[in-house]
Amino acid sequence: MAAAETDSEVPCARCSDFLHFSAKDTAAKWLEVDNLLKEVYQHLACFVPKIYCLGPNLNPQNEDLLAQLLLQGPLEWYLCGEEPTVGLAKLEQSNQPSQLCGHVFKVGEPTYSCRDCAADPTCVLCMQCFLGSVHKEHRYRMTTSGGGGFCDCGDTEAWKKGPYCQKHEPNISDSSQKDPLANLSEQMITRTRNVFSIILKYAVHMLTWEKEDELPEGLEPPARGDTYYCMLFNDEVHTYEQVIYTLQKAVNCTQKEAVSFATTVDRDGRKSVRFGDFQFCEQAKSVIVRNTSRQTKPLRVQVMHSSVVAHQCFALKALNWLGQIIKSSDALRRILCLVGLQQGPNGENSLVDTLMLCDSKMWKGARNVYHQLFMSSLLMDPKYKKLFAIQFAKNYERLQSDYVKDDHDREFSITDLSVQMFTVPSLARMLITEENLMTTIIQTFVDHLRHRDIQGRFQFERYTAQQAFKFRRVQSLIGDLKYVLISRPTEWSDQLREKFLEGFEAFLELLKCMQGMDPVVRQVGQHIEMEPEWEAAFTLQMKLTHIISMMQEWCANDEKVLIEAYKKCLSALTHCHSGFTDGEQPITLSMCGHSVDTIRYCVSQEKVSIHLPVSRLLAGLHALLSKTEVAYRFPELLPLSELSPPMLIEHPLRCLVLCAQVHAGMWRRNGFSLVNQIYYYHNVKCRVEMFDKDLVMLQAGASMMDPNHFLMIVLSRFELYHIFSSADCRKRYGRENINKDVVQQNNTLIEEMLHLVIMVVGERYIAGVGQVESYDEIKREIIHQLCIRPMAHSELVKALPENENKETGMERVIDHVALFKKPGVTGRGLYKLRPECAKMFNLYFNHYSRADQSKAEEAQRKIKRQNGEDSVLPPPVPPHFCPLFGSLVNILQCDVLLGILGAVLQWAMEPSGGHWSESMLQRVLHLLGMGLVEEQQHLTGSTEDGISFNFTLKISRPGEAPGNTPSILALLETLQNAPHLEVHKDMIRWILKTVANIKTTRECTASASPADSSGHSQEETVRDKDKAERKRKAEMARLRREKIMAQMSEMQRHFINENKDLFQQSLEELDATTSTSLEHSPSTCDSTLVCVGPRRWRASASDRRQVVTCILCQEEQEIRVDGKAMVLAAFVQRSTVMSKNRKRPTYNPDKYDPLFMHPDLSFGTHTGSCGHIMHSHCWQRYFEAVQAKEQRRQQRLRVHTSYDVENGEFLCPLCECLSNTVIPLLPLTKTTCSTEQPDQRQWVNITSQQIKALHAARKKTNAEGVDDADSAEDCHPPDGFRLDHTPKNPYSGTIKEMLTTFGTATYKVGLKVHPNEQDARVPIMCWGSCAYTIQSIERLLVDEEKPLFGSLPCRQNDCLSSLTRFGSACWTASSQAVVHGHFIRLLAALVPDSQVENTPCILDIDMFHMLVSLVLSYPALHCLDSSGMSEDAAQLHLLHLVTIAHIVQILLTSIPEEVRMEQESGGAEREEEESVCLLYNTLRRHLSSGLHEVTSGWHLWHCVKTGILPYLRAAALFFHYLNGAPAPPELHGVGEWEALCGYLCLPSNPLQLYYNNLELLEPLLQGWCSHPGVLQALQSSTALIRFPRESNHLIELPEDYSALINQASSFTCPKSGGDKSRAPTLCLVCGAMLCSQSYCCQTELEGDDVGACTAHTFTCGAGVGIFLRVRESQVLFLAGKTKGCFYAPPYLDDYGETDQGLRRGNPLHLCQERYRKIQKLWRQHSITEEIGHAQEANQTLVGIDWQHL
Ligand SMILES: [Zn+2]
Ligand SMILES: [Zn+2]
Ligand SMILES: [Zn+2]
Ligand SMILES: [Zn+2]
Ligand SMILES: [Zn+2]
Ligand SMILES: [Zn+2]
Ligand SMILES: [Zn+2]
Repeated sequence: MAAAETDSEVPCARCSDFLHFSAKDTAAKWLEVDNLLKEVYQHLACFVPKIYCLGPNLNPQNEDLLAQLLLQGPLEWYLCGEEPTVGLAKLEQSNQPSQLCGHVFKVGEPTYSCRDCAADPTCVLCMQCFLGSVHKEHRYRMTTSGGGGFCDCGDTEAWKKGPYCQKHEPNISDSSQKDPLANLSEQMITRTRNVFSIILKYAVHMLTWEKEDELPEGLEPPARGDTYYCMLFNDEVHTYEQVIYTLQKAVNCTQKEAVSFATTVDRDGRKSVRFGDFQFCEQAKSVIVRNTSRQTKPLRVQVMHSSVVAHQCFALKALNWLGQIIKSSDALRRILCLVGLQQGPNGENSLVDTLMLCDSKMWKGARNVYHQLFMSSLLMDPKYKKLFAIQFAKNYERLQSDYVKDDHDREFSITDLSVQMFTVPSLARMLITEENLMTTIIQTFVDHLRHRDIQGRFQFERYTAQQAFKFRRVQSLIGDLKYVLISRPTEWSDQLREKFLEGFEAFLELLKCMQGMDPVVRQVGQHIEMEPEWEAAFTLQMKLTHIISMMQEWCANDEKVLIEAYKKCLSALTHCHSGFTDGEQPITLSMCGHSVDTIRYCVSQEKVSIHLPVSRLLAGLHALLSKTEVAYRFPELLPLSELSPPMLIEHPLRCLVLCAQVHAGMWRRNGFSLVNQIYYYHNVKCRVEMFDKDLVMLQAGASMMDPNHFLMIVLSRFELYHIFSSADCRKRYGRENINKDVVQQNNTLIEEMLHLVIMVVGERYIAGVGQVESYDEIKREIIHQLCIRPMAHSELVKALPENENKETGMERVIDHVALFKKPGVTGRGLYKLRPECAKMFNLYFNHYSRADQSKAEEAQRKIKRQNGEDSVLPPPVPPHFCPLFGSLVNILQCDVLLGILGAVLQWAMEPSGGHWSESMLQRVLHLLGMGLVEEQQHLTGSTEDGISFNFTLKISRPGEAPGNTPSILALLETLQNAPHLEVHKDMIRWILKTVANIKTTRECTASASPADSSGHSQEETVRDKDKAERKRKAEMARLRREKIMAQMSEMQRHFINENKDLFQQSLEELDATTSTSLEHSPSTCDSTLVCVGPRRWRASASDRRQVVTCILCQEEQEIRVDGKAMVLAAFVQRSTVMSKNRKRPTYNPDKYDPLFMHPDLSFGTHTGSCGHIMHSHCWQRYFEAVQAKEQRRQQRLRVHTSYDVENGEFLCPLCECLSNTVIPLLPLTKTTCSTEQPDQRQWVNITSQQIKALHAARKKTNAEGVDDADSAEDCHPPDGFRLDHTPKNPYSGTIKEMLTTFGTATYKVGLKVHPNEQDARVPIMCWGSCAYTIQSIERLLVDEEKPLFGSLPCRQNDCLSSLTRFGSACWTASSQAVVHGHFIRLLAALVPDSQVENTPCILDIDMFHMLVSLVLSYPALHCLDSSGMSEDAAQLHLLHLVTIAHIVQILLTSIPEEVRMEQESGGAEREEEESVCLLYNTLRRHLSSGLHEVTSGWHLWHCVKTGILPYLRAAALFFHYLNGAPAPPELHGVGEWEALCGYLCLPSNPLQLYYNNLELLEPLLQGWCSHPGVLQALQSSTALIRFPRESNHLIELPEDYSALINQASSFTCPKSGGDKSRAPTLCLVCGAMLCSQSYCCQTELEGDDVGACTAHTFTCGAGVGIFLRVRESQVLFLAGKTKGCFYAPPYLDDYGETDQGLRRGNPLHLCQERYRKIQKLWRQHSITEEIGHAQEANQTLVGIDWQHL
């Protein structure tokens, strides 16, 4: 502050200077001069340093004011030629704004994209436009903006449909092409151009100025002093902490200042940290540099002259000003664009170019300002957007290189604007053709990845940290390429073809550098020493995946392009393969009478790479040739003859073999990096352009080869050739049993090889390979996912490949294949497969992992069994191949395959030995099935095919080997009965049956006779037989099940008998209603049930007897006053759940007097329990064990637990519920009733006398020796009242101990103080907790619409009963005098007592707390009385007295003005109405002013009745638990007034209490009203609490989640001046928005640094908080400083799922049910418990620093 004061004189001195300044005159002068530039510069040179940067602390308000007056003023005058406000208004009026919205997004603002209509996902709308658009009704996606970017509303290229919202709908009359300049006068245009060009030039000059001590020509200040700034710049290398630490050292500031400096540097990119003479600043600079240069490059610091900084400040201001000015008119905007893009007379760079090219040299703040200006000018003007895009493309390479070298995030780089231009299809196309943008981008990218191996392939292996950093930054170029390609051309020009193909070639060059990168060699002997780097290569592959797919789509779009691209790709591949057969002699393979030459190559011995993008691209193009039919229409244009199929398949095959070998465990020594690569190869993110394409390539190659040759090569690469080639391969077990591991390995390889064959023949769901559409492809994917199990929408999305627009295409398909099941209050919505789709299930679906496969198999078999079907899973009917791939089916019937199949079947004859495996056989059977399905299909199709494909014939032939081997069919027939093949029997049977069917069909068609029926009937009888058999089996199974069930229930019964009590308890838990109603069923004769007063219900001895079981030692124990103490695990917590005033200042816990609870219930102490009972000594032993364990654990490892032992917390040993103390269980006290009892007046008199006696006694002890005649006279104690009597404490030692334990705990937690059992407030806190807990449960019952009695769960019931009985006994643990004192003060608030001062007025007392405290403290007085007066009578009198006080309280506070129309009265309650009127008028009399007139008795009575009801209900609960009186059945239903009054021994017109005792009460009433507090409270009606107090609920949340996001996006951090908060978090209790999880809003709380949320919980929720993290869409529960958990938000998308982290972006809507559930947790005080359970279930939650949120 000191600094600011000295400063203030400086501007003041100048004020006089400035006073005579006239903007108008200056502008007029400027109009006259020749060299305007010089004149304006002079003006700036003179004034800027006088306004800006005059001291260490900037004063932005003052500066802005002066700048407006002295600098912008004249400019605006000049520009308008008149009063600027007038001129600009005119401009605005004549403006015809373009239809572009152009709203620039703030960080965290919601943005919307339409998945149906957006050209690509980068096209977004602002909330306002979205709500006014047609897309609201479409499938839209919502995200939060990262800042930057603007609304695309009005851009016709961005939207396929509905480009305009209602607001931006163009007028038809407007011609949008019209030049906006047409509306402007010539002079105006010239003047604007002059001003804009000078100011823009000035700003560009200053922002790109690099000298620290000089200014550009013409701007030198008239006088310059020795004033400098030490300017600190941002970098992304040094951490916050480093900067803060350094600053404290260098400029000697406090930590707080240092934090603020660091925050500003991070936000604005630079900040002056010192002001003074050169020397002074230089010194600071050297310290900073020295301190930060150790490990990294030092922080950038400059010592700059103040005038330089001043001009830079104004330069930013000037750019902002330009941005503002052009808002008023499209014409001005266009002039600015024109000025900005104008090149110098000699072709010098335009101002816009200059800025762009200096981008990486500027600080963050400057960049932000000029980027904003570009966005609001160049990018808003359709004409200049194009010109700007061209300049941008021309500078592209340089800008990207600068960006890669720079260390700022991309959002602060000019390169980030690429998205605004490249995604506009027309611009992108123009830039490709005219600026060769595609090639430029790709080449720039390749140029930046220089690290290559000898073959020119990328090498990431030895990347330094810096190269890795660069690699990350370079990846943004791929994003640009994606933007350019995202919309595919509909029309091709020759030029576009040419440039695209040029780009394609550049792309091939890139892929060539990837082909074969990161090769691996199998490690034998030793494990690899270091895991090789693999992630970089896969990152590149993943990033390129969509580009590769898009390239193919572009090619598919034009025949010529496709043909050319295919040629180029093929030649690239040939180039990659050159030298691939060198050196090695080919070897010859021969089998089954076929032979083929191939190279000698072993995957397990030589180099192999998983990266083959060139091969895969060719595979993709090959499929496209087939799909587009180009292959058939222009075969002559294609180099098909050049194709060498063995060469095509070689590398993909190696890759697949590698996977198989890894699977077989042959590559274990190569470590995890290889496992990871294989995983990603198949993963949904990569597989489309990896695994899938390898398969296509294999199919393409195989389709061009003899199938026998193909299979021999496959066998050879799998290193299985030697097994199947030998003549006696069918006798494998005989020869090859040397090494078990090798056998095992080979078995796996054979399985994998068979699987590969299945896929090559069977996979036809890629358009071009099979005759399918993309629709069929997705459908099949989804079906196979759902065959595993029903899935949520998000799970399905994750399992499907996304295209470049993040679409899976699922929505088109899902309803055809699945049924949706909505979620309940928990869980999520699920899709379940439609039963009819199950027939498409293919066990060997190519995208299943082994785990998926076995899960799916199990699930499908189970379903079939449940449906009573045969559980066989035959291959599904596949779609037809496209002609180009048609020959693949021949693989099924080729000799080599049949040889292989026959061999495996032969092996399977032998049950033992392990030379074959179940999966091997299963695959063989599947292949056989495929052959049959294929044949059936051919038969039903054209006859020609049916003849050429005769699988049944082939498998019926015996093997041709030397020995007479049986045919496959014969083998199957034998295997059918083999006992060791039980599991495969149904498949074998299916095959044989199908073979039979086919044979009949063939015979039928051959004989052409319709003998079909006989076959059919035969089949039918077979089916019938099957059915009967199944039925029999099912019946057997049922009988067996029943027997087992009977046995089990017998055992259960036994068990229950043994553990009776345990079950009793859990049953009670289950069915609270029955148990409680049983307990309360009236057992004694008394017909009317009354819970209080002399007439009350009394428990018989047997009723009182209560036996419980200890959960720890399982022993039974009767609860007795003198017995062993039994305790209930309990949790005491502070609560504000019922608070009506969250703004009450915090009190000093040491001085606070809690005796009177204010009716605002601003905070209370709640006690809850899980209801589990233990011996006190068992509990103590348990707790000590927990403590000891915890100590050991803390020594060993520093982990937290979900509970805080030091604070007395522990988990219930049975249910793990969080607890922090125990409540002792006490029996009902035995009472008798003497008939003769004093009436109310007598009782009050007697009690007053007793009190007087106590007063006197106290005085006597206080003032020992002083003789006081007055008091001696008064202190005549009433009869039977013995002051010297010391009552005997009835309780056993352990009970006494537990009374103290619980009392102290309540005191400690409730007041947040150190435990002190002697403190006078201990009993008050216990009574308070009892009252508060009862009140909160009463509220809960109302909110849940449950009856007052009979609906509480057992645990709450037990808790309330023990809490109340404890309350009545807790006085015995305190000093009697203390309790007397409390009682006296309490009573004095109602019955005046001259000896007590400072009694609160009745409006400041919660009457229920009053009642409870009075009743529970009275026994301390009563025990001195031996006159036979009963405690019951006293309870009733106290109830009556407090009730009257409460009625008065209600009449004073809660009577609203009359509403006439509600005045209906049947006259049924005439008496009540009259009496209440009378009383009300009495009150009005007492309070001459302050109460308004009410004439309607009905109205008053109604208010009283509803106002007092919660009190009466709570009182009923209280006396019920205190005295044990069962409740009348009427109260088990909806609480009835009469029943309630009856139960409480009140007249049904409680006002009678008043009229019956007028003599006593009238003076009291007068006394209450005359308390000065009453009038005060009534006059300041704001703080008045009205009755009934409504239940608190959590704040209302909007239905649409985006409304919340929007609300949060405009929320700024309250501490760092207008900054956006990074984690805006909403308190669901009070609605406060907080800046969470951030340095700026940390505060100190009880000595710890805590975040905004934690701090808020202490004021708003007494330590407990419920928040919604808006950006994350996550509910946060906090308790204390160390506990917290996340909870599912109450917002769901249409698929019944939450979106925690807002990653999916589906529209979210409020689910009331779930929100109510959270609210219920809160109202039940279960938040802490919920956190405990969450933390127990998920240990990672314990480690989170909750206090910093
Ligand atoms: Zn908009
Ligand atoms: Zn709009
Ligand atoms: Zn739409
Ligand atoms: Zn025990
Ligand atoms: Zn428990
Ligand atoms: Zn709050
Ligand atoms: Zn903040």
